[in-house]
Amino acid sequence: MRLLLVEDDAMIGEAIRAGLRRDGFTVDWVHDGETAEQVLKTESFDVLLLDLGLPRKAGLAVLSGLRARGDALPVIILTARDSVSDRVQGLDAGADDYLVKPFDLDELAARIRALLRRKSGQTAPAIEHLGVVLNPAAHTVQRDGQDIALSPREFALLQLLMERPGTIHSRERIEGRLYGWGEELESNAIEVHVHGLRRKLGADFILTVRGVGYRVRPA
Ligand code: CA
Repeated sequence: MRLLLVEDDAMIGEAIRAGLRRDGFTVDWVHDGETAEQVLKTESFDVLLLDLGLPRKAGLAVLSGLRARGDALPVIILTARDSVSDRVQGLDAGADDYLVKPFDLDELAARIRALLRRKSGQTAPAIEHLGVVLNPAAHTVQRDGQDIALSPREFALLQLLMERPGTIHSRERIEGRLYGWGEELESNAIEVHVHGLRRKLGADFILTVRGVGYRVRPA
């Protein structure tokens, strides 16, 4: 899952990015509202973590612009302003959730997972498909009740494919979701991860749709 973090405080931003990376998220970070707006217009993310007090453009203006363009990207507001009116304004401007600083990083990660579940219409915390059970919070995968050890990238790829089992994902889209800015990406990286998953989950769990991309085998 790829997140865009918009936060101008270096210490808070660094802590959030480090904590969420430990939790398996891909995190890209910008420091002002204007840059956030540019990036949001050209790249795709799974969740936006948005500070309100930002240089160059206020967080609320970034959020309003996003919704005015019809972009339904899930948004969590991160704010130091502990006033009811700020939170109400944020939610009314189209935010899905908010956290008041200082907050616990585990709580932030849990809220991100909850938001992603709601957006994909999932009700259970774990995703199940053809005997494979993936638990995003516990970072575990089981096949027919047996624990399967995956690398962080394999886990992220499997989660992406299992969350929308009917969807074919192009290599470009998968790369965009698994790798943030400045992260080394070999040209055959996705093929390598798919190969690893097939070795661990069975050769036919992930199908190659020639010329299009990858999907999990239909149930
Ligand atoms: Ca700020």
